[in-house]
Amino acid sequence: MTMQAPGELVFDAPRRGKAPRHLMDLSGDERKVAVVELGLPAFRADQVSRQWLGRLSDDPNEWSDVPAHARELISGALLPRLLTGVRTIDCDSGTTVKSVWRLHDGALVESVLMRYPERVTVCISSQAGCGMNCPFCATGQAGLTRNLSTAEIVEQVLAGARALDRGEVAGGPGRVSNVVFMGMGEPLANYSAVIGAVRRLVSPSPEGLGMSARGVTVSTVGLVPRMQQLAGEGLPVTLAVSLHAPDDRLRDTLVPVNTRWPVQEVLDAAWEYGNRTGRRVSIEYALIREINDQAWRADLLADLVEGQLVHVNLIPLNPTPGSVWTASTPQDEREFVATLRRRGVQVTVRDTRGRDIDGACGQLAAANSG
Ligand code: SAH
Repeated sequence: MTMQAPGELVFDAPRRGKAPRHLMDLSGDERKVAVVELGLPAFRADQVSRQWLGRLSDDPNEWSDVPAHARELISGALLPRLLTGVRTIDCDSGTTVKSVWRLHDGALVESVLMRYPERVTVCISSQAGCGMNCPFCATGQAGLTRNLSTAEIVEQVLAGARALDRGEVAGGPGRVSNVVFMGMGEPLANYSAVIGAVRRLVSPSPEGLGMSARGVTVSTVGLVPRMQQLAGEGLPVTLAVSLHAPDDRLRDTLVPVNTRWPVQEVLDAAWEYGNRTGRRVSIEYALIREINDQAWRADLLADLVEGQLVHVNLIPLNPTPGSVWTASTPQDEREFVATLRRRGVQVTVRDTRGRDIDGACGQLAAANSG
């Protein structure tokens, strides 16, 4: 027990710190340098990468093509355990699985695997906590603990990929087809680690997992300079913008960073992203009863997005504990959708997978419940 400020007691405050270096932090070339530094031939880097990412084997004893002493050296120096499972909870007959992970310094993060007939999506965290302070989001309530490292992000995907590969998820063995940065944290506020993780996901074997960039979605509150930077990375990931209101007056309260980068600047950056990458941009809009769900706001939203390569994703609000806000009535939701459709806007209402395990959008708050 330590004293922080007068009257504020902290029990067993975990030491917060950067994660130890891990193979998944490194590019293919950096891995070669790292194994040579261990006194091993450079080609061991590709062998181990093929085991780790290609065969999804995290048990060095299974790496029959790598001599025992090399396995020991590499796992000792480059494969520290970054994520320790605290618990997993499933619902939807085992096709939605939420995992709570403890990081090396005690911080907690969550990821969610969702299996659909035609795809498997893993929703991952980019930060422990979040500093964006959106009042309707559970993660935002506890503030930011720290940024995750590239490897801490990649390992969330690999944990899901291994579980699927081993047939541990209902529906039999399978592969991860989609990754969404829609768990805890603001990905563009942890830019370089997130870009590193995206590179590991989309690089071909042995450097990466070989996923399609269009299967990766980066979701942001609208950090405009970072959106512009992302457009120039040559990584055509899907960009999702959490808009939630078409007018600055309301968005200032729902997404506080709007006071820095208002609606029109965010949308201009989104259209620029779409033009430069050829990718259709997603607009995320959580429907909150009598707050942002009026038909006139749907019309205002249509004014803003009409004619653009865009898809509007409406998310029924998942109420967070203690919040007075709740989801829109079915009638208001229908009218909001119909208003957008009449204006020719492509729109879908997101399903509420994981809701009963607090694994749905905006409910991830592990840092709070630890
Ligand atoms: N920080 C990023 C990504 C994390 S949240 C972002 O804001 O985009 C992923 C999505 O869930 C965002 O669109 C976010 O606004 C939404 N969300 C957060 N809390 C929610 C809640 N209680 N109900 C529904 N959606 C929520």
